Amino acid sequence: MTTIDIVVPCYNEEEGLAHFVLETNKVIDTLPEYDFRYILVNDGSKDKTFLVMKQLSDKFSNVKYISFSRNFGKEAAMYAGLQNSSADYVIVMDADLQHPPGVFPQLIDAVINEGYDCCATKRDEREGEGVLRGVFSKLFFKLSNRLTDVSMPYGAMDYRIMSRQMVDSILELSEVQRFSKGIFSWVGFKTKWISFKTVERQLGKTTWKFSSLFKYAIDGIACFSVAPLRFIAVMGAIISGGALLYILITLIQTLIFGIETPGYVTLLCAVLFLGGIMEFSIGIVGEYIGRIYMETKNRPIYIVHKTNLDEIKNKKDA
Ligand code: UDP
Ligand code: MG
Repeated sequence: MTTIDIVVPCYNEEEGLAHFVLETNKVIDTLPEYDFRYILVNDGSKDKTFLVMKQLSDKFSNVKYISFSRNFGKEAAMYAGLQNSSADYVIVMDADLQHPPGVFPQLIDAVINEGYDCCATKRDEREGEGVLRGVFSKLFFKLSNRLTDVSMPYGAMDYRIMSRQMVDSILELSEVQRFSKGIFSWVGFKTKWISFKTVERQLGKTTWKFSSLFKYAIDGIACFSVAPLRFIAVMGAIISGGALLYILITLIQTLIFGIETPGYVTLLCAVLFLGGIMEFSIGIVGEYIGRIYMETKNRPIYIVHKTNLDEIKNKKDA
């Protein structure tokens, strides 16, 4: 029988988790030819999520859980789930039913009958998500498609099914600073994109703030591209060129019209402008150095506190 693991990162999902499993079970029951197993990852929830997980695993034998020692982030939770999956196919989805289990048949059909390695979902283009957030997320997808060598359609989501082979490739990218959307497309493989109507979160509340989305976008670009560094070099070259031109003009002016006392405003402008650009450039370089620093520590991506899996894999090169 074909096995399918469902990896679900959970952070403060006590209200919705049981409902999620019940709803998903309804769909699973219509697909008896596959053997499903849940891998619920408790990402250091502050509420009773872990308790709910334990109850669910007592009730359903196919519910496995991994509980972290603290909050390591959704990316780490997904990594833990993928690393400890063993099925032929793996589904990654959120616990809040914003990723409807109803599309399982479509996902499964694509990888089993249509010859794809992955079937991923994206937001329905016609759908609104708040003006400001919409503008920024469009900008993000445009920028990251241009600047990096990974490409993803607008509104790409993490909700997807992947073949064992693809999951194993993803696990080979063991960086600490993970940007899964980028990693999913970086590894390649044939991906089918489907879209569905997104729904509002029913229970619990989202933990994303605008600032964390901004950080997420910066990660998305910095993890997959050194274009900002090249941008600094180009900017430096342009400014040097301008300065050279200015020197030449002043020199000729002085030769022809004699020495003129320059206004201090020009001087001040030049100093401030260059100072600003220098700070900005150091900031960008620093962003990359910080990443190198964090990466060289080679710390584990997550730490497990409790699990009901027989053995847990948590080595980077495992
Ligand atoms: N999540 C997580 N760790 C975190 C934040 C979120 O595992 O630090 C999980 C959360 O429980 C949910 C999924 O990631 O299953 C998506 O989170 P949320 O619904 O808050 O985000 P949104 O739907 O707004 O992208
Ligand atoms: Mg959500």
